[in-house]
Amino acid sequence: MAALPQISMKPEVHEYLRNVFMNKELLMEVEECEAERRFLALLSCLSRPPSFTCVRVSTHLAPRHEVQQRLQQYLLQQQSECSYPGGVSAFPLAHPLLADVLLLPVVGPRPVCVLDSEVIVGAQCGNAVLRGAHVFSPGILSTPKFLKTGDAVSVFSDVEGKCTKGAKEFKGKKVFLGNGVSRVDRAQIFCTDGPVRGLGIQMTEPVYSSPSFDGILPEFVFLQNLPSVLVSHVLGPKPGERILDMCAAPGGKTTHIAALIGNKGEVVALDKISWKVDKIRALAQTLKLDCIRPFCFNSIRAVSSQADNTADGPPFLQESFDRVLLDAPCSGLGQRPNMAVTWSLKEICSYQPLQRKLLHTAVQLLKRGGVLVYSTCTVTLAENEEQVAWALRTFPCLSLQAQEPHLGAEGMLGAGLAYDQRLLLQRFHPEPALSGVADRDTIGFFIAKFTKT
Ligand code: SAM
Repeated sequence: MAALPQISMKPEVHEYLRNVFMNKELLMEVEECEAERRFLALLSCLSRPPSFTCVRVSTHLAPRHEVQQRLQQYLLQQQSECSYPGGVSAFPLAHPLLADVLLLPVVGPRPVCVLDSEVIVGAQCGNAVLRGAHVFSPGILSTPKFLKTGDAVSVFSDVEGKCTKGAKEFKGKKVFLGNGVSRVDRAQIFCTDGPVRGLGIQMTEPVYSSPSFDGILPEFVFLQNLPSVLVSHVLGPKPGERILDMCAAPGGKTTHIAALIGNKGEVVALDKISWKVDKIRALAQTLKLDCIRPFCFNSIRAVSSQADNTADGPPFLQESFDRVLLDAPCSGLGQRPNMAVTWSLKEICSYQPLQRKLLHTAVQLLKRGGVLVYSTCTVTLAENEEQVAWALRTFPCLSLQAQEPHLGAEGMLGAGLAYDQRLLLQRFHPEPALSGVADRDTIGFFIAKFTKT
């Protein structure tokens, strides 16, 4: 039996995060040993998948209960084809507070015995396997010398990116993901023209299992982490409004906003990377949402300096939007499962100034009386509570607002925010699911809601 995965990171990053979770302000209220326990629990949770897989239902196309039944049919089929004990859960649960969410329990960690034959996959591929995927050939880094189609193998993730492509064995740090059966020969994976596409290892005994949604009801269900679904509800868009999503690709929240306004109004979606903007377009088409207008544009430059600007694309005149979402580019340290943070401390710290520039644009483009939602999928203070404190100091026109629904914990101590202010924030700390409380065992996430007066 193999040990459970642990997240690894550079010592400087570990030290930085430890200081965040054991900061002076926090230690005035929480015992040092309790703060340390929470930090270690966070590190352990980050390396595991959340205990529920969350899907958003296209309630603009069909009622949730109908989609729930149709999804169950597909999942029962998958369950019947599943060879390992415990299988996958086939019964989607309706979220009690979010009317467009279905949850599926993730089964695991299950005890699986390690085999002699080892296949090593890259960290990203490994994370996907922990969320229920099979191994696709391009993700494979190392196999035994004589691997043949049909061989039973144990699959490991190269968490530190040290394994050489084509290696015949690997002695570095690796995390066990489960057992599977090879669907390819070694020669097909490491041939000189590049690996064959498609299935490489079919997982038969994954340590964690959740159903595959690949190609299932694509216009009706969209895989999205629970706090991400919450963001568009908190934004509270109304039909007929003009809404800006400043960092929109691949369009998860953009399409949700468009669905919430029943496709009536205008959702402008900006992203600075052109191939990602194509993804927004494709998703909008799949979900049959034509009120979305995607543009490839750097949002930092999205405010027009011309008073007589009449163009309907970016840049825009000041105070052009009823609501603005800034789902900011961030260090992503809340993502789960994540067995290795490969970034340097310098990279992690580079996001705060970028987010501040984007916040400047957001405030300028928002109408008076309008709503601004700021969110990240990271756990640092610098990108979350410190940004809120900075925004309140820098823009006296902003005030923090209560969020509906409120499922997360309050904002963290350490950025000088008052208790009342912290209560208005939602912070999702990855933490083990308590019995019956599925909502908190999510990715790490942060949401703040402001209005502009
Ligand atoms: N909101 C998206 C969703 O729910 O699907 C996820 C957004 S992701 C956290 C951040 C995005 O910001 C990336 O797609 C990145 O390309 C984009 N981005 C980064 N800097 C930007 C900028 N200056 N202007 C516009 N987009 C930017």
